[in-house]
Amino acid sequence: MEVTMSIYTDLNIRPVINATATLTKLGGSLMPAEVREAMEEASRAFIQLDELQIKVSEKLAELTGNEAAYVATGAAAGLALTTAVCLTGGDREKALLIPDREAMHAAGMKDEVLVFKSHRNGYDYSVRMTGAKIVDVGSELHSEPADLENAISERTAAFMWFQGGMTGKGDFSLEKVIEICTAHGVPVLVDAAAQVPPVENLRRYTEMGATAAIFSGGKDLHGPQSTGLVVGRKWIIEAMRAIGSPNQGFARAMKVSKENMVGLLAAVKRYVGLDHEAKRDRDERVVAQWCADFDGLAGARAERIFPNEAGQPLPRLLLHIDPASGTNGEAVAARLLAGEPSIAVAAAPDGIYVNPWLLTDEEVAIVGRRVAEELGRRSRE
Ligand SMILES: *Cc1c(COP(=O)(O)O)cnc(C)c1O
Repeated sequence: MEVTMSIYTDLNIRPVINATATLTKLGGSLMPAEVREAMEEASRAFIQLDELQIKVSEKLAELTGNEAAYVATGAAAGLALTTAVCLTGGDREKALLIPDREAMHAAGMKDEVLVFKSHRNGYDYSVRMTGAKIVDVGSELHSEPADLENAISERTAAFMWFQGGMTGKGDFSLEKVIEICTAHGVPVLVDAAAQVPPVENLRRYTEMGATAAIFSGGKDLHGPQSTGLVVGRKWIIEAMRAIGSPNQGFARAMKVSKENMVGLLAAVKRYVGLDHEAKRDRDERVVAQWCADFDGLAGARAERIFPNEAGQPLPRLLLHIDPASGTNGEAVAARLLAGEPSIAVAAAPDGIYVNPWLLTDEEVAIVGRRVAEELGRRSRE
């Protein structure tokens, strides 16, 4: 980590070594040189912004193996904009009625979005901010095809599927959702914000028949933090362009800059060309080494966890800390964060998760040393 940088220290902010995940609160991910350079270059000339969006998204579609693509200001904005398109069909006049649900209804617009009740989460605000009403499908624990069939009406604008830790165990499959919705002419949108790796997911949902899938540019894609990648059918992408920024109205508050467009393109170009297997092997070696180093240290038990809670192929270390030892995961995590250098790890119910995912080799060594120190200290306490 380039901790010698003064831009943060001048603000009296300590950079953090991130052994958690691509957490938005910690800055998402770090942009590699090719992304930074593309953005720097883009910042030097004026262009037609709508033309740039078209040209960049054509390349993004090609790189990801999709019909069409779009650069949004984050996945959350991508959810809002794809929802807005399902309400309006990309009609600019109708888009000006958003988020007035009464006016939308009076204009004959569809104004309901279906979501599995078990999927409801903080990001569903992106759907609600369009004025659309979320209609829950099924219960928190269970849903079946009849629940979806019964929920579809002439007011149904879309189905929003959330993929991640919130994806319910008692729900039926996305394949089935797509089958039913497609039969009723209802678009299916997939929030896949944190679903790479694996890289194949960039086309997996749309290949399954989803109308659009939305990824965060600022997580593992390592693009600008304020970008989102939407991939999907031509019609929905074209409608996004029709009502999207720089047009005034709903999407104007989600302006996408030229630097962000070009930065996301550079990031995706890099990402699809990466040796993902080699990266995973490296992370596996780190976790195996940590397991060997920490297991039994001060009574801690080290365990490799795979895949992660969202089902992604990312290995992590779970260090179980014996409550009889007088400390716990939260206390150790707090001490690592307050220490020098500051290290962020996630507290587990009975210990800490340590994740090699975003660490340089140098940081792997630092984290290993600090964790061992904390465990050693604990045994002396
Ligand atoms: C991170 C995340 C988002 C938001 O993505 P941004 O790119 O930060 O806007 C939305 N949905 C899920 C499931 C996420 O994990």
